[in-house]
Amino acid sequence: RIQPADRMTGLPAQFFAGLVRKANAQAAKGRDVINLGQGNPDQPTPAHIVAKLQEEAPNPAFHKYPPFSGFAFLKEAVAKRYKEDYNVDLDPETEVAILFGGKTGLIEISQCLLNPGDVALVPDPGYPDYWSGVALAGGRMEYMPLKADHAFLPDYSAVSPDVADQAKLMFINYPNNPTGAVADSSFYADTVGFAAKHNIVVASDFAYGALGFDGNQPVSFLQTPGAKEVGVEFYTLSKTYNMAGWRVGFALGNKEVVGLINLIQDHYYCSLFGGIQAAAAEALTGPQDCVAQLRQTYENRRNALFGELDEIGWQANKPGGSFFCWLPVPKGHTSASFSDLVLEQADVVVAPGIGFGTHGEGYVRLGLLASEERLIEAANRIGRLGLFR
Ligand code: PLP
Repeated sequence: RIQPADRMTGLPAQFFAGLVRKANAQAAKGRDVINLGQGNPDQPTPAHIVAKLQEEAPNPAFHKYPPFSGFAFLKEAVAKRYKEDYNVDLDPETEVAILFGGKTGLIEISQCLLNPGDVALVPDPGYPDYWSGVALAGGRMEYMPLKADHAFLPDYSAVSPDVADQAKLMFINYPNNPTGAVADSSFYADTVGFAAKHNIVVASDFAYGALGFDGNQPVSFLQTPGAKEVGVEFYTLSKTYNMAGWRVGFALGNKEVVGLINLIQDHYYCSLFGGIQAAAAEALTGPQDCVAQLRQTYENRRNALFGELDEIGWQANKPGGSFFCWLPVPKGHTSASFSDLVLEQADVVVAPGIGFGTHGEGYVRLGLLASEERLIEAANRIGRLGLFR
């Protein structure tokens, strides 16, 4: 009797929901499952941020509806962080939108910019929420393959001029989920040039902006001359401050796009709880040594895991950033068959590359989301399957 709207038929089941179900089923058999499949930070939010929420929660000013687009103090806090970290100037009132997690903005931007049938360029492999947004807007996706021999960066010269001229929106994401690749300023300069030439709005997903390894701080798209004219950057507290459950993100940059996102959000939400906004501002303006520590923790985990991968003969390149490792599957396997095998026989959850797009086939994604000991244990168990020698 229930007749879903047409827009729902284009919407695939949420990929990670399926992965979590499989992991839970294995754990329910009483197995010691190591879950490296989902991108869920495993450490708690720093104590000074939690304390700020405890302090502010009783404040009656926060018990009423907040201002529709959020509190000015939080917009000022994120602008300050961008100035300090990237030397980027942002006008808090017109160039900052507060989001219910980066995810909502990444979906809303398609609704803001695409009419049914309009083209969006999406990376393949890529974070699946870009597709959901385009699907909900009734847009048409054109994929930009990310290949190892092109440093997992899109090759704009391979996008046909026809497609480029039809495109209204494009997504880029560095440090990259799932490949762990990092982009430099020359890539962003090419991106701004390509977007300006074809009149495309850029959505730069900077969810892992704080996580660059080996001393390299990732560059923000907004540092590129001309970036604000062509696009916005999505920034989130989820990974930088272990705040995935708090749901705080931002769209930053182009005034018109920020205005559209604020408008659509005025209808969906009425901003976040004020106590959470106060704690988010504390995260952005308070002590930042927790961020440096987190980066070091992931780097140490990466090094520990790759030490063991070397031991078992699994050859792969280390990620330059994010907290993901993108590893080729052994011969004779697809990404799905290998992921199923390691879950069933090694009790390790990895994400099959095909879940991130056609060009993700041949790889699995492992998150650095367990202690060094558990990561070594996971690699060791997979090694015992004897597939790499
Ligand atoms: N973008 C990428 C590439 C991600 O991996 C994630 C979360 O996993 C997000 C955006 C969403 O982050 P948020 O928690 O802010 O919604």
